[in-house]
Amino acid sequence: MQDILARYQRQIVLPGFGIEGQQQLQAASIACVGVGGLGSSALFYLAAAGVGRLTIIDDDLVEVSNLQRQILYKTEQQGQVKVKMAQQCLSALNPHIEVVAHVQKLDEKNADSLLESCDIVLDGSDNFMTRYFVNDMCYTLKKPLVHASVSQWQGQCTVFMPEQSACYRCLFPLDAENLSDTGNCSQSGVLGVLPGLLGVLQATEAIKLILKQGEPLLGRMLLVDAQTMQFNQWVFSRDPECALCSHRKPSEALATLAQASKQKKKEQKKMKEIPSLTVEELAQWFVHPPQPFQLIDVRRVDERAEGKIEPSLSIPINTLSEKAAELDPESCYVVHCGGGRRSLKGALILRDLGFRNVYNLQGGMTAWESRLNSI
Ligand SMILES: [Zn+2]
Repeated sequence: MQDILARYQRQIVLPGFGIEGQQQLQAASIACVGVGGLGSSALFYLAAAGVGRLTIIDDDLVEVSNLQRQILYKTEQQGQVKVKMAQQCLSALNPHIEVVAHVQKLDEKNADSLLESCDIVLDGSDNFMTRYFVNDMCYTLKKPLVHASVSQWQGQCTVFMPEQSACYRCLFPLDAENLSDTGNCSQSGVLGVLPGLLGVLQATEAIKLILKQGEPLLGRMLLVDAQTMQFNQWVFSRDPECALCSHRKPSEALATLAQASKQKKKEQKKMKEIPSLTVEELAQWFVHPPQPFQLIDVRRVDERAEGKIEPSLSIPINTLSEKAAELDPESCYVVHCGGGRRSLKGALILRDLGFRNVYNLQGGMTAWESRLNSI
């Protein structure tokens, strides 16, 4: 008991906190979906603050590229199961709490049992599909959801409270654009401290919700820009047309997501079948083409104006299906974009139209330019 009092002394003395506040934290149960950059910093502080039970859900392994921002892990833990390493780290920080590790992806089969007993859910995921799913599950199970996401130098954080506030779908209706994942860290990059900063904000909101102190980020999204160091707020309200929280049949909205998820998995499988070309190989092909080929740039015209690979044909991705009629399906095509993601979709469009000899340029324009710079 003495150790516990000493450990939390700095917060127990806070006005309005006291032993009672500490007991509330000890009795609380928080689930964190994803233990990447956001989860790392959020969980560190929640464990340190003495939140009694932390449920962590992730099926990834520690990779070297995680270490720039995922501070729960160490260099020698590469290849290890993330949630196990996170559990070790958090338990070592605070042996008075329980850390429950689930080596799985949150899905339709396990979501009820994993989230049911928790008081609050933290979204620490890095893709739209999971964000929608976590949102839908929290709405269904009536759990407060502390959302955050980061990209490049920006981040956002808010709290969704079922039946009291808008939900994630009110702000970002489910459509193909939002599911494309073009914004995750591996493609767009992220400053390492950004998920740290946003994760700390998530932990702060979660603690406030447990203590019922202060004003939660309800109905307002905190927008953080690390470059200008400006914190702005986007005030929003519930969308009366929201497919989930304003709909009479949320089950239909859930089914749409399940359908979209299935569709996406199918698409990902097909994408894996598309052969890729590195920028070095493309440079070789320009000199000694193994077969006649045409390079197609699927970026927008304004992106192309800032730099292009010559020779290449400009067909922005939104016109590709239509313009494909002018191409010979028997020829070889290499598709490129800015980073290699949109072009994969472009290659898929061509494949679906019967083009068999289509390659995707890995890393796109970014890789091409860094190759030129390194020559
Ligand atoms: Zn909604």
